[in-house]
Amino acid sequence: MARSSITFDDNLVSVGFVVHLNYQNPYLSPFEEFQRFKTHPLIRDTFAGGKRISYGARAITEGGYQSVPKLAFPGGALIGCAAGFVNVPRIKGSHNAMLSGMLAAEHVAAALAHGRANDELADYEAAWRSSPVGRDLWRVRNAKPLWSKLGTLAGVALGGLDMWTNTLGFSLFGTLKHGKADFATLKPAAQCRPIAYQKPDGKLTFDRLSSVYLSNTNHEEDQPVHLLVRDGNLQKSSEHDVYAGPSARYCPAGVYEWVEEGGQPRYVINAQNCVHCKTCDIKDPNQNINWVPPEGGGGPNYPNM
Ligand SMILES: Cc1cc2nc3c(=O)[nH]c(=O)nc-3n(C[C@H](O)[C@H](O)[C@H](O)COP(=O)(O)OP(=O)(O)OC[C@H]3O[C@@H](n4cnc5c(N)ncnc54)[C@H](O)[C@@H]3O)c2cc1C
Ligand code: SF4
Repeated sequence: MARSSITFDDNLVSVGFVVHLNYQNPYLSPFEEFQRFKTHPLIRDTFAGGKRISYGARAITEGGYQSVPKLAFPGGALIGCAAGFVNVPRIKGSHNAMLSGMLAAEHVAAALAHGRANDELADYEAAWRSSPVGRDLWRVRNAKPLWSKLGTLAGVALGGLDMWTNTLGFSLFGTLKHGKADFATLKPAAQCRPIAYQKPDGKLTFDRLSSVYLSNTNHEEDQPVHLLVRDGNLQKSSEHDVYAGPSARYCPAGVYEWVEEGGQPRYVINAQNCVHCKTCDIKDPNQNINWVPPEGGGGPNYPNM
């Protein structure tokens, strides 16, 4: 499943392409699907004669109401995307990030006024469900599970119906659970067909490394590794041998490579290219890759955002 958006502004075209990370074929490459999308006859002329000026990638937290974790802990609280507050059907991510920030700030101010500090903001945790953010997320809670289970046509249609009945105060479905976690949906490579993507033409379609260059990504060269592979043997025996190394394809920055060395595959991690999209942390089939914040605030630097 995928979706896309194109916006125009002062002779500038912004194009986005979303690949849902519950895909099954380990040979799929979200980056290459995006390149292929731009060649569609209905839109390819939009880019004719244009110059590529920027590139970026980021996972969207789409779990909604059912996926919101515990929000408060001693001395801190989760707000915005850290709490998974994106409302996908209503395209309200920034909106909910700001509203939840304001809600948390109000409860912090009230706690400080009562002489409290460094304890748990339990009232914020309790308040978000009845706040505009929580109420809005509740009404759309079945849209994503229906979409994932039934596909775009039936899923989106039934999701729309459910959103409508929820505005009237009821749902025909109750509260649907999400299916498998995204890391658990990949099939072994032996059960899937490799996908042959076209070579980039340098005009409409491009390669990953020259794209990453345009994300202005920068990490200190001697900083501690921020992409941690917990068990190297498991990466070889499962990620490589069973799933044919999907990290080399799902990473939009070409960070992961399996290279032959003395007849043996060796896992290479070009961590300096990482654009912090978090896909590896989500999609590695064994949850064997752990993304941690890099030292020194390095990473992509997106202009106009
Ligand atoms: C591809 C995509 C398309 C989207 N489209 C829309 C849309 O059309 N409309 C909409 O409303 N929303 C959209 N969203 C969602 C929206 O962008 C987010 O919901 C919103 O930006 C969340 O804001 P935030 O402040 O919670 O988190 P973020 O915007 O993610 O900000 C978190 C910041 O914290 C920084 N940070 C992280 N860790 C550390 C650390 N350890 N130390 C210091 N800094 C750190 C990050 O670098 C980042 O700048 C989209 C999201 C994506 C990924
Ligand atoms: S290494 Fe992980 S977080 Fe970094 S760009 Fe690749 S998939 Fe995204």
